[in-house]
Amino acid sequence: MAPTSTDELFCTTLRARGQRVTPQRLAIVAVLRDLDHHATAEELHGLVSARVPGISLPTVYSTLELLEDLGAVRRVANDGGTALFDARTDEHHHAICRRCGTVVDIEASPDQSALMEAARSAGFAPDDAQVVVRGICGACRAAGVAAGASA
Ligand SMILES: [Zn+2]
Ligand SMILES: [Zn+2]
Repeated sequence: MAPTSTDELFCTTLRARGQRVTPQRLAIVAVLRDLDHHATAEELHGLVSARVPGISLPTVYSTLELLEDLGAVRRVANDGGTALFDARTDEHHHAICRRCGTVVDIEASPDQSALMEAARSAGFAPDDAQVVVRGICGACRAAGVAAGASA
């Protein structure tokens, strides 16, 4: 996999849409590529600011929406309304800790045909389904045990 493929795809698609390839947009792509976890737009904004001082949060949001459109980033459903962005776009699912909000990738390929069929019945043209497993993460369980709380 070529390290510049996302950049190239991004540049090509931006130009095809009549949009400019800006240093700000490229910096966001670079930060996402280096990211090894799931991050909120605010966290990404902090990381991108180190490369492009003065970049605004709305610019980060709109670029993330563009990248999501292009399939270069996925939005992870999360409790509390804060969207998490995931640079990993191959099929995987997530487990989210109810207590600390930690998100981990889980590798599984559940049969989604029943979900897709139900979505179709509701009038949708489904293209993707993400499974979110909720529970208490290992660190919180260990902390709970240490504190004598039951989890
Ligand atoms: Zn936790
Ligand atoms: Zn993920």
